[in-house]
Amino acid sequence: MKILVINCGSSSLKFQLIDSASEEVLCKGLCERIGIDGSVIGYTPAGKDKIVKEVPMPDHNKAIELVIEALTDPETGVVKELSEIDAVGHRIVHGGEAFTKSVIINDEVIKAIEDVSDLAPLHNPANLIGVRACMKAMPGVPMVAVFDTAFHQTMPEEAYLYGVWYGYYEKFRVRRYGFHGTSHAYVSAKAAEILGKPYDSLKTIVCHLGNGASVSAVKEGRCIDTSMGLTPLEGLLMGTRSGDLDPSVVEYIANKEGTDIKNVMNILNKKSGVYGLSGDLSSDFRDLEAGYNKGDAGAIRAVNTFAYRVVKYIGAYAAAMNGVDCICFTAGVGENSPMVRKLVLERLGYLGVTLDEEANSTRGKEICISGPDSRVKALVVPTNEELAIARDTAALVK
Ligand code: ADP
Repeated sequence: MKILVINCGSSSLKFQLIDSASEEVLCKGLCERIGIDGSVIGYTPAGKDKIVKEVPMPDHNKAIELVIEALTDPETGVVKELSEIDAVGHRIVHGGEAFTKSVIINDEVIKAIEDVSDLAPLHNPANLIGVRACMKAMPGVPMVAVFDTAFHQTMPEEAYLYGVWYGYYEKFRVRRYGFHGTSHAYVSAKAAEILGKPYDSLKTIVCHLGNGASVSAVKEGRCIDTSMGLTPLEGLLMGTRSGDLDPSVVEYIANKEGTDIKNVMNILNKKSGVYGLSGDLSSDFRDLEAGYNKGDAGAIRAVNTFAYRVVKYIGAYAAAMNGVDCICFTAGVGENSPMVRKLVLERLGYLGVTLDEEANSTRGKEICISGPDSRVKALVVPTNEELAIARDTAALVK
């Protein structure tokens, strides 16, 4: 089957066309600046050079039209006709408690996604715009929703509840949901495959370290805890997000700066994390690593604090699972930063972790980076959320 995978944001739309049998990517691309001046579509058909076109895209309907044009172009296209596309898999950020797995989209599902939109006001409405645009452009083609939160729905109550008045959970569903679930599920299952062990026999900690970052504890194939919460702001330090802090910090900064909660939340989401700690140097670990190696105090402060927080979560999750067999690194930083992986793993001697420095010096590929004597395996497992979405979609529409 040919599956179109769509990840739709408020002004961007990422897409991949994947052959679900061979798992080959037939074309991948990105529409940027949708609804803004200077819209651009860029895409790479398999085996061909990247094509970039500046075309006005006043809305997502136009973006989808251009994606379809790109896929069916007589010269550079990868399918002859639109009818060759069997299904569309959509990344949906928040499924609340309603969705514990991927589902075929119908009116009821759209309504349920709308119902939890106030939990992800920036993401869910944008995701739904993509769903509706595809439905309009490809009537009759089955659409599947794959949720970032679904994998974490197996968390027990003691892990997902906040220590606030229980009525807030009952009335407003205030609880921890977790995100990056598609990645945590894919990477933890892949780790079992790499180790040649049954998925349901392992205790795995997945460190998804990208611009957004989260850690999860996967025990016997089920997520039992994860570091993001009601929203993706909780947990690790991230590119620009603060991660965990005392909620009183919000009120304190608001009072000191003479501003409101909304502004402080914006600072915590957009100007904090390694970006804020580095003294506004960068949110990108390529810049931070370069700064670290040159002795830049801000970069050193940011990278060390980032790594320290990962170490703390690994310790917490080893405790939560009463042990750990495998620690995985994935996403932009996890796959590409030997420095961060080393700063984390060298502090896990108490778990019996040893590091294979040479293996760890590689970037962007699947590899075991723990030493042969390590009691816990440490792996780099490149994530592939698009493939996971395509697999779920193919399985549901079969
Ligand atoms: P997201 O999907 O959350 O936007 P990614 O998983 O793509 O993020 O990760 C992007 C981040 O990965 C970049 O901001 C950068 O910090 C980091 N990164 C990418 N390539 C490298 C590299 N070669 N070395 C170090 N860090 C890298």
